[in-house]
Amino acid sequence: MGNEKRQLHMFFFPFMAQGHMIPAIDMAKLFASRGIKATIVTTPLNAPLLAKTIQRSQNLGVEIGVLVIKFPTIEAGLPEGCESFHMASSHGVQQKFIKATTMLEPQIDQLLQEHAPDCLVADMFFPWATDIATKYGVPRLVFHGTGFFPLCALECLRLYEPGKNVSSDSELFSIPNLPNDIKLTRAQLPVLAEENVESTEFFAKFFKALRESEARSYGVVVNSFYELEQDYVDHYRKVMGRKAWHIGPLSVCIKDTEDKAQRGKASSIDEHGYCLKWLDTKKPHSVVYICFGSVADFNDSQLLEIAMGLEASGQQFIWVVKKEKNHGGEEEEEEWLPEGFEKRMEGKGLIIRGWAPQVLILDHEAVGGFVTHCGWNSILEGVAAGVPMVTWPVSAEQFFNEKLVTQVIKIGVSVGAQRWVSLKGDNINRDAIEKAVKRIMFGEEAEEMRSRAKVLGELARRAVEEGGSSYLDLNAVIEDLKAIGS
Ligand code: UDP
Repeated sequence: MGNEKRQLHMFFFPFMAQGHMIPAIDMAKLFASRGIKATIVTTPLNAPLLAKTIQRSQNLGVEIGVLVIKFPTIEAGLPEGCESFHMASSHGVQQKFIKATTMLEPQIDQLLQEHAPDCLVADMFFPWATDIATKYGVPRLVFHGTGFFPLCALECLRLYEPGKNVSSDSELFSIPNLPNDIKLTRAQLPVLAEENVESTEFFAKFFKALRESEARSYGVVVNSFYELEQDYVDHYRKVMGRKAWHIGPLSVCIKDTEDKAQRGKASSIDEHGYCLKWLDTKKPHSVVYICFGSVADFNDSQLLEIAMGLEASGQQFIWVVKKEKNHGGEEEEEEWLPEGFEKRMEGKGLIIRGWAPQVLILDHEAVGGFVTHCGWNSILEGVAAGVPMVTWPVSAEQFFNEKLVTQVIKIGVSVGAQRWVSLKGDNINRDAIEKAVKRIMFGEEAEEMRSRAKVLGELARRAVEEGGSSYLDLNAVIEDLKAIGS
């Protein structure tokens, strides 16, 4: 048909949460950098978060379009302005948020009709996207935002229900039929909803719809790289029989420093330059970075334990907390901090209130360890930076990600979180925090983890370079899509 030169047009439709939006934007840029026409579909309050990064891409000659659709906050019974999932502070509100996203269907229908793209890359949380794309003959790719390992683990749990064979929530069991012997407890499994029966049924139905929609989709694009979890890439493709392409780590594909600094939001620390300059004064591998992503949160007593644990570890740190500074003046102490903490830690520890330039911090040579909630993006960013981790999973699929880090690639130690909790993290005492931080920062075990992490970091970089495993898979998916259109 002589379609060789025809430019593919792809729609990217991310779920409205930082952990999904950030990699989806990176992905749109990656495809655009390969000559694809990329259009991101989002909602009014999320659109401004894209504006600067898109402008920067345009300055470099990479065109990315944005289409804005209305988010039915009021119609779904959500508080005004609630357009991001991290604002949904209870299961009830989360349920309404999901309902609101299902109400987006007619607008997406309209856009597909008007723009006739060649592909719709829609987040896993939009199960209805497969059918609507099929209606217009458009292949739908699913973006989960997570890796192959958790996808395989979840499927084996669903198929074999090994949790039914143990007598208590704290008894360890293995997940059958996975390439490695992965152990966890029932308490660490996602609890879909415990508030009420209606909510439990709603989420169970929703997750069933996600699975079915994925099975009917054209395939799955995954932010990962083959060398990180090759047995699970193979398992997903060969045993589970899914069509999938690994195209990450996406954070490594982003080269522009401003883009790295402002992934998701602008950093809270006046110009990211300040914390990088602070890191410049530190020795290699001497600072531990603590951050729990965009959603996970802790109560004041847990923050106090973290502060005490950090101080007792004797390590220098950058710690990101979701708190505003008290406006009561310099002298006023904050309840979640031990008395005099900030004064004692001057020069030794930096607290960032709000949003940190995480990728730039992790990539700094002064950073020697990462305490993480195990969100998939954070895990990949830590892997790419080659740093050992303290794993502190909270919710979503984070307990699976922890097992990948501690039991498969062995570049981290667990802080000891025992319980999956959807909103506020499990309680961990200061001693456990101190001990885990010390284990990744110095000693023989830390050095072994660091050298394994460095190798993985190098492999991550190579994967996205020309000829690397992710580079080739990206070529493969583009060629497949071109073949459909020809
Ligand atoms: N992030 C950041 N600064 C912060 C907190 C988070 O840049 O202060 C970024 C982080 O680099 C990652 C994303 O936000 O890319 C969080 O995604 P992840 O999957 O780790 O966790 P989630 O927020 O989805 O729980």
